[in-house]
Amino acid sequence: MFADIILPIPFDSFTYLVPSDMEHRVMRGCRVVVPLGKNKIYTGVVLHVHNKTPQGVEIKAIIDVLDDHPVVNELQFAFWQWIANYYLCPLGDVMKGALPGAMKPKDEAALKERTRKRKGSKNGNSLDDHLATPTTLSPVQQTALNEIEKSFQTQNVTLLHGVTSSGKTEIYIHLISQHMAKGEQVLYLLPEIALTTQITERLRRFFGNHMGVYHSKFTDVQRLEVYQRQASSAPYQLILGVRSSVFLPFQNLGLVIVDEEHEQSYKQQEPAPRYHARNAAIMLAQMSSAKTLLGTATPSFEVYHLAHKKRYGYVQLTQRYRDMMLPTIEVVDTKEAKRKRLMHGVFSPRLIEVMQEALDRKEQIILFQNRRGYSSFIECKQCGWVPRCPHCDVTLTLHKKTSTLTCHYCGYTTHIPTQCPACEGERFMDVGTGTEKIEEQIHKLFEGATTLRMDLDTAKTRQQYETIISDFADHRADILIGTQMVTKGLDFDNVSVVGILDADTMLNLPDFRSYERTFQTLSQVAGRAGRNNRPGHVILQTRSADTDIIRQITANDYWQMFYTQMTERQLFHYPPFHRLIYIYLRHRDDRLLDHLAADMGERLRAIFGHRVLGPDRPPVARIQSLYIRKLMLKMEPQASISRVRQALLSIQQQMLSIAKNLNIYYDVDPL
Ligand code: ADP
Ligand code: ZN
Ligand code: ZN
Repeated sequence: MFADIILPIPFDSFTYLVPSDMEHRVMRGCRVVVPLGKNKIYTGVVLHVHNKTPQGVEIKAIIDVLDDHPVVNELQFAFWQWIANYYLCPLGDVMKGALPGAMKPKDEAALKERTRKRKGSKNGNSLDDHLATPTTLSPVQQTALNEIEKSFQTQNVTLLHGVTSSGKTEIYIHLISQHMAKGEQVLYLLPEIALTTQITERLRRFFGNHMGVYHSKFTDVQRLEVYQRQASSAPYQLILGVRSSVFLPFQNLGLVIVDEEHEQSYKQQEPAPRYHARNAAIMLAQMSSAKTLLGTATPSFEVYHLAHKKRYGYVQLTQRYRDMMLPTIEVVDTKEAKRKRLMHGVFSPRLIEVMQEALDRKEQIILFQNRRGYSSFIECKQCGWVPRCPHCDVTLTLHKKTSTLTCHYCGYTTHIPTQCPACEGERFMDVGTGTEKIEEQIHKLFEGATTLRMDLDTAKTRQQYETIISDFADHRADILIGTQMVTKGLDFDNVSVVGILDADTMLNLPDFRSYERTFQTLSQVAGRAGRNNRPGHVILQTRSADTDIIRQITANDYWQMFYTQMTERQLFHYPPFHRLIYIYLRHRDDRLLDHLAADMGERLRAIFGHRVLGPDRPPVARIQSLYIRKLMLKMEPQASISRVRQALLSIQQQMLSIAKNLNIYYDVDPL
């Protein structure tokens, strides 16, 4: 007897001999321990058991079987295979990303010991049977809920397009209760771990110990416990989690909710599988005959396009709960202010005035700047030399508090030079403004105002993040400065002013999605102003005050923005009209890579013709000492995925036979 085993390495599967004493225990979906190569040992998952003797290869035997019954069910296998096919990666990569680390142990005995010691721990999922009665929906909300139910009669996927604070979460809670009452399981996806804290508390009141939380900030053992419970006969009915929770075993999935469906963080960038959790969740739901509800205030074009074409159901909520007004967005032209030399650092006189008034009224302020650190980089005043990362193709960012220069790609950190290595000059200037510099400017401009900063430097851990939020909620600081982190669904009662310091860096990114993204991010951050009874005031600083996109943002005119941008997308063959596949090549040798990339480009063109673009150097063309080239494929939406996959994999094989150390990977539907 033989078994094909999936191992957590970038291959589909390997065939092993099943020793006769294990024949009755080796089953599809069970974990086994196997040797690989000269001296490696892996935990793998049995994909198939069969009796086809493999030809021409040395066959090793399975060492041990870890499970009495399968820990990966048929739905999961089908889902893994779909991910591998669609996102062009081997099953091994999918398995590695899908199973919690503790299920792929090198040392099973050590793990058993750890699990035993922690027995009784409940992974933050505490017991609580005093459950609250969901809130009564407002008439508008009730209508929306009815429309969702009605659309589910004919559609598998429905988009709930509701402005911030319209009560989308309240509607989810009602819908979840209904599905749970039918004995079905519900998966509630959030884009970021950061958001789970506030939502967990809110849902815990209604669903108590029927809800399990799952994300990567839990320990290995905690995640293992949730996984095992979902595979058991008494699983949680509701799972709240981030993208990796699509890989949990579900037995009776009835509803999937994807909150903030437009968020980029649903896409896994690194490592493989580079999947989009929203799209994967829609597929998972479809495989389980479950329904999917996508919620957002600013839909992604991909989803809105399908809703517009009636392929998805569509339900809209245009009012905030209790008719609270949406914030007014006031545009401040910084080009003009700069010309008249009126700017104080990045602060316009108007922003200073509005902030001062809020501070006088003891109200709080959120400031958004999409760049962390002190400045973007430093430059020698005499010769213009700029320090760059020795491993990556980027400038180093100044962090003044720690007196360091840091690479935001690989983390390389060094001291600020005292002397320029090029001209021995000793004076440097900093260029660009990050959150750290803004905090410094605030302390000069607003005497006595207290600040908190939230970015990847100050909120590294979940604990730090939660402390910042609760401190700000308790008004232990007047002003919160932050990167995208502050734009996400945070709820503060006392915030009356939101300042967007510089809309232009986002708008000017060389990316066909930059307008869509800026609209989404700025609407999100604007929505942080004036919750609970007070209309908020948003100051949007920009050098492009007189453009359509800024007018669309201030008028909250999603449709106009969508319509204008879609015309361009169609013209230039971009999504959602065409599907993109990026092909990345990595190698240590820059010149050899040039040659290989050109070669691969020709092979691709022989099959795909004008649909191939490149090779190009991506904006960051070297990361961690590996040089990078990128090829792009623009496919018609009706193109057969399996044929594209076949062609790509065969070219990949040809390339690898020429250069063994070439690393090739794909990003399907890149963001
Ligand atoms: P969204 O998810 O659309 O941003 P929420 O569901 O968070 O909106 O609602 C915004 C605020 O209004 C929350 O504090 C919520 O508790 C409150 N709210 C919304 N609908 C109701 C309702 N029907 N009854 C009581 N409070 C509600
Ligand atoms: Zn110099
Ligand atoms: Zn680097």
